[in-house]
Amino acid sequence: MTEIVTRKGKALGAPKRWAQRYAGYQGSGSDEKQRITEKLNGLTLEERTPERIDQIIGNDTWTRVSCDLCDDSVERAAALSDGINDLLVCESCLRAAEIALFSERKNPS
Ligand SMILES: [Zn+2]
Repeated sequence: MTEIVTRKGKALGAPKRWAQRYAGYQGSGSDEKQRITEKLNGLTLEERTPERIDQIIGNDTWTRVSCDLCDDSVERAAALSDGINDLLVCESCLRAAEIALFSERKNPS
């Protein structure tokens, strides 16, 4: 089963991942990191949208889903895995691969 990675799903898990990443953090900006942790923890499940998370953190690195083939930021991507490495692939790239396969089948080289 191919796992689907979405911005929405990443946003839902962002408060927990952020808290784990910055628990006991003492480096530069630690007060700000703590304020962000508290704001994120204060969100209800419904409030954990990508837009809200990005706004609180100040960038979209915690919710961004980038295609590993074309580098576009997308709402969702398929995680193709060989059991060791995952490749996030967007719908356009999957469709392009499907079309290439289909046309090769129609006109075998
Ligand atoms: Zn792509």
